[in-house]
Amino acid sequence: MPFKVENQAMNKRISPLDIPLQGKKIEFELQESDLPRLKEEATPHLVLCRANLKAVGDQVSMEASYQASLSKTCDCCLKQTKLELHGEFRLTLLPQYLQQREQPGEGEITAEMADIDYYDGKEINLGPYFEDQIFLDLPFRIECSDDCQGICPQCGKDLNKSSCECEEPSVTRPFANLQNLIQTTQEK
Ligand SMILES: [Zn+2]
Ligand SMILES: [Zn+2]
Repeated sequence: MPFKVENQAMNKRISPLDIPLQGKKIEFELQESDLPRLKEEATPHLVLCRANLKAVGDQVSMEASYQASLSKTCDCCLKQTKLELHGEFRLTLLPQYLQQREQPGEGEITAEMADIDYYDGKEINLGPYFEDQIFLDLPFRIECSDDCQGICPQCGKDLNKSSCECEEPSVTRPFANLQNLIQTTQEK
């Protein structure tokens, strides 16, 4: 479902102490500068985030959802292709000092398996957790259309715009010369 961030001033940083007993809902927009890792894979246009936070002391549980408009190069023809992603996730955020204490032994449940992550300092910057999730949700491969023709491996022409004169199976070309050579040898 599409949603709008009504209060743009809402901060993506929050201190567990500012979360009331009944919980707190926050919405914010992530800018390109908040998404350094994602930016290497795709161009973010609009990334809206929503979090429902509850806190017990300094332990915070978050129900989160996001909507992201991105563009990414087509894996076939390299054209910039629009990509709409949305997702939901849950995360328990624990203060960093608990991480040192809870080193899981073999066979034990690791933090990752239990959707636990850690935060440093008094304030939690929620941006990176959203970035991680969007990164995970990125499709492995995207194509600008179902029938993208790609680019010609020989002349580099975008075959969606025009065809080219290159011969189809380029791999057989070196052997074609060899074939000629064999023929001329045999003719002698
Ligand atoms: Zn394409
Ligand atoms: Zn070509």
